[in-house]
This record gives sequence, structure tokens and C-alpha cells, in this order.
Amino acid sequence: MKNYPTAERSTPQERLARSRAERQSIDQPDEVIDGGWFWRRLQKKYARRVQKIASNPREGMLGSNLVLYQAMAKYVDEELRAWEELGDDVPVWSPGAALGYRLGPAMGFHTYPLDSFTDLMTPDEARWSMDYVRRLGFPSDICDRIQNIGALMVSGRLPRISLVTLEFNDCSQGAQANLWAAREVGAQIYTFDVPFEQDMQAVRYVEEQLREMIDLAVKNIPGVKYDRESEARLVQYQEIYRQGMHWQRKIAKLAARKPCPISGRDALRMPARQLCWQQSFVDYFRESYLELEKRSAQGESPLNGPEKFRVLWTATAPFYSDPFDYLEKRGCAVPAYEEGTGCATYYVPGEGKQFFGHELENPLQEEAATLLWDHWAGTAERRIWEVAMRCRQLDIDGIVHFEQGGCVACNGSARVMGERIESELGIPSLYIRGWCQDLEKHDEQAFQAQLGEWVEISTRQKEAKEQERGQE
Ligand code: SF4
Repeated sequence: MKNYPTAERSTPQERLARSRAERQSIDQPDEVIDGGWFWRRLQKKYARRVQKIASNPREGMLGSNLVLYQAMAKYVDEELRAWEELGDDVPVWSPGAALGYRLGPAMGFHTYPLDSFTDLMTPDEARWSMDYVRRLGFPSDICDRIQNIGALMVSGRLPRISLVTLEFNDCSQGAQANLWAAREVGAQIYTFDVPFEQDMQAVRYVEEQLREMIDLAVKNIPGVKYDRESEARLVQYQEIYRQGMHWQRKIAKLAARKPCPISGRDALRMPARQLCWQQSFVDYFRESYLELEKRSAQGESPLNGPEKFRVLWTATAPFYSDPFDYLEKRGCAVPAYEEGTGCATYYVPGEGKQFFGHELENPLQEEAATLLWDHWAGTAERRIWEVAMRCRQLDIDGIVHFEQGGCVACNGSARVMGERIESELGIPSLYIRGWCQDLEKHDEQAFQAQLGEWVEISTRQKEAKEQERGQE
């Protein structure tokens, strides 16, 4: 075998230090660039937000937002404290889509949902972030959220990532960005093989891999363990998660009422995964449900007049504008977002510790079952089935597919799904191109015009059909 000479590489620690120093001198000479940077920014943001909502809430805003922002403020304080105490030795886990949010804290990890962290960036932060990774050779035409994940992992603005886990799912670019960044920062990597089947054999197969991953982490990452106490914590966190899911399911059912009591903005709000093992996760969804139920009983709705049309929004959305408010002003409700209120996982495993009627044998199997039921990690067929089910439950009139540039889910199975649902349920689809965070590419005016025109035509078609049915 021939050994090719390889260029001498700097260590991950050297690269991280260089990156922090570079950013310091180029962009923010007055700001300290270190692993606490992101937390300090968020600390200021949540302090402002909590103060504003408590003293002067926006009209129509759910009071439960205060619960959420207070919980986020507390979370950010704790993360900043961890950085101040441990620096880059904070054990950080960056997981694939569904794993790690209960198991991680039970083991002593700080589990970072980096995709959700990018959602918290301001337009300016997203801009520096994308410019930064592009200078490192990252392509500019892949999903902008993924570019920002890459930047968050390697630019040194968070504590160093210690473990990256991956599984096959629709966000293949996310997996690749994670892999690239893991190599850059010298993180441990574990890849799961998650079968498409949903049976106990599959559960045991994934459980075996989980045990292997735990061994890898415990041996190589200081500060993490999996013993009896960790398992007891895991059981406790799974129970909290189940309670949160209970209230989310109730919100999803409430969204079926007409006029729709839930605003698109609230439907889009995904559960903060990093909080899902804490009581505040349950409190937020319970408060939201009770408030929405009360509003609905009083006939209140975020719509400006009668409900004429209702859409299910898929995959993702532009973060720095509010297309929902635009639609609601035109009598179009958005009761569900594919990954929030529209997510079918609220109906399945974990509940009653069962997986498709089989009793789960231990808490790790419950984690394995969650991974097997991840909406994004199955076949396109399953995605179609889940979205169609939600369309029937919520009496959806149309589907908006946000075609995020460079995203496999948005540009792949979306069309197959739209065509199938239209032929089976008669529900039309709009495929609309956009970017979540790259404001240089996203044309808001053209976006709104396309959205408005489609809703207007579809509403007229729906009214004509209803009239026809009335005359029969
Ligand atoms: S929009 Fe697509 S590519 Fe981007 S983070 Fe979401 S699933 Fe991944």
C-alpha cells in the first residue's frame, strides 16, 4: 500500500484559538470572542425580551410566551455559567435530529440543538456566520441554516463540541456539516444505522448502538457517565417529555377548531428541544393550551374576519419576516406547521412506554423508539402518510411547501408528497422558493405576492366547489 504524504495539520485546539483571535481582530475588536460569546448575546436578548413582554406585550401575543422566554433566560444563564467554570471542557453533544435531549443531560452532557441555535441568530449574526464559513470553503448555495450550523461549530463562539452523533435523515447536509465540523474541532463521532422498520427488532438494534455510543462517550469524554443514577434521571426526563407531548397533542387537536384559535407564528414555534427535559417545557405547553382553549371558547381567533382558507406549512420558513400575519390578514389560517403542531410524532411512541403496541423493556429502548419514529428519518412514504393524516384531522385546504434552497426534504419529497395529497385528498399545493436566513437571496416582495395570489385563487376555487356541492 502506498502512503501518500499528508500536509501537517494544526491541532483542533490551535485552530479554535486561531479562529477566535481572527474574529476578534477582524470584526469585533471591542468584543470578547470566546466560547461564551453566543450565550452572552442571548443573555442580553432574553433579558430585554422578558422585560418587554412582562411590561408591554404585543397585542394578541400568548401570555405563555413569558414562560418560554423566562425558561430560555434561565437556560442561557446556566450554559454561560458552565462555560465560565469549565471553558472548552464543557461536555457538549451535537446530535442528529431526534436524539440526545433527554439522554444527554442524564449523562452530564450539554446537548446543543445547533439548528435551533441558528434560528436564534439576528440577521447580522447570520450574515457574519455565512461569510465566515464561505471563506473556509463552505458552499454558498446549500441551506443557509446549515452554513450557520457549520459556523457555530468551528468559529469558537460556543464551547468546543465533544461528541457528534449522526443518523440517516432528510437533513443530509446537516449530517455532512456536522461531520466536517467534528473533524475540524476534534470531536468524537458516532453514526447510527436506523432501520426503516418500526418493530421491536429495530428497537433492539438501535438500543445496541446506543450502548456502544455511550461506551465511546464515557471512555473518551471527561465529565460524562451512564450509571444507575443517570438512568434514573433519564426515566425522570422521559416522563417530563411525555407530559409536554400530552399538552402539545391537545394544542394540535384544538387547532382543528374553526375559526382557528392558533396563530401561524405560534404553530411554527417548535418546542425548544434543549428544554424538553425540564419542567418549564411542560409549563409552557400547558399554559399555551389553557390560554388557546379560553380564547377559542370566546370565539377569538388571530384572523382578521371570518376564516376562508387554512393551510399547513411544511419544512421551514423565512425567519426574518412573518408570512403568517400576511396570510391571516387575508382570512387564511395556518393551524399547523409540519414540525410543530403538524408533527405526527405527537401521536406515537413514548406514550405509555409502548412502541406500536409492544411494551418497551428499558429507558434506552424508549430513546431508540424516538429515533425510529423521527419524522425526518423515515421513508418519503411515511412523511406523506403523516402529513396527509394531519391534513385530514385539521381539515386543511392547501399546503405551502417552502422550497428552502439546497434542502433535500424541501426540494425532494415535497413535490411527490404534494402531488399524492392532491390526487388523494384534493388538497392543492404551493411550492414557493425562499431562504430562511440569507436575506441577500430572499425576495420578500416577490414571496408575498406569490403567496397572496395563490391563496386568493385557491380560496375562490374552494368557494366555487362549495357552491357546486350546495346546488347538488
Ligand atoms: S431546511 Fe432542510 S437542509 Fe436546512 S436544516 Fe432544515 S432539513 Fe436541513
